[in-house]
Amino acid sequence: TRRYSAHAPKGPSLDGVKDIIAVASGKGGVGKSTTAVNLAVALANACQLKVGLLDADIYGPSVPTMMNLQGKPEVSKDMKMIPVENHGVRCMSIGFLVDKDAPIVWRGPMVMSALEKMTRGVAWGDLDILVVDMPPGTGDAQLSISQRLQLSGALIVSTPQDIALIDARRGANMFRKVEVPILGLIENMSCFKCPHCGEKSYIFGNGGVQRTAKELDMEFLGEIPLELDIRSSSDEGNPIVLAAPNSGVAKAYTDVAEKL
Ligand code: ADP
Repeated sequence: TRRYSAHAPKGPSLDGVKDIIAVASGKGGVGKSTTAVNLAVALANACQLKVGLLDADIYGPSVPTMMNLQGKPEVSKDMKMIPVENHGVRCMSIGFLVDKDAPIVWRGPMVMSALEKMTRGVAWGDLDILVVDMPPGTGDAQLSISQRLQLSGALIVSTPQDIALIDARRGANMFRKVEVPILGLIENMSCFKCPHCGEKSYIFGNGGVQRTAKELDMEFLGEIPLELDIRSSSDEGNPIVLAAPNSGVAKAYTDVAEKL
């Protein structure tokens, strides 16, 4: 079912890694990392692929918490970092390498050299797919990751809210500029279902991402509701696709993973 290799302009750029896909968002806090983590875990478990997860969100790494990983990666004989594995996914994050409470105040070139170490300096082994949790936004770091990693494709996560959508558009234009195929848009926090009465509230508006996808001629990959269990399972390091594999939300993530 893999469809993106065929579209990739230049092909993947890491030895042994068949496809690299980015999970991106126009701005922070829309659920990009939550989506990246759940998709990676669904690709590894439900889809039975060899999966890696690169936390490229240098200024706000959340993969260590969301994947329940701590400690420093070991170094191999040829001086590469060995990814740390949990839930069937091989992970690398700047969060493994710096003090959790120390602010990261690097400038551009340092960010780029850290990202270089976290990609080519890692013994990923053979992977069907490397999921990259991108930094939010559309600045230099995002551009150079897209170019240096020769991404096979990108997913864009957005809430239905207007402002997030405008930023998502900007993100889409950036990927187009560097000829990275956009695999589609995912709507996160699409609606809130009251746990008491079951009524649905469209807190961030209704249908906005679907409309934007249509307007920009992109695939609408699916919608994930705002649910307490998504947040709590993330915080516990046990992503919802594993914590509640039979839930509607787990099914929604798995459906998106299967479309990739
Ligand atoms: P980003 O990577 O875009 O900054 P995160 O994935 O870190 O966003 O999510 C921000 C916060 O929102 C986290 O606490 C996360 O657990 C929570 N969150 C994300 N998506 C959902 C959702 N669908 N339902 C409930 N909480 C969510």
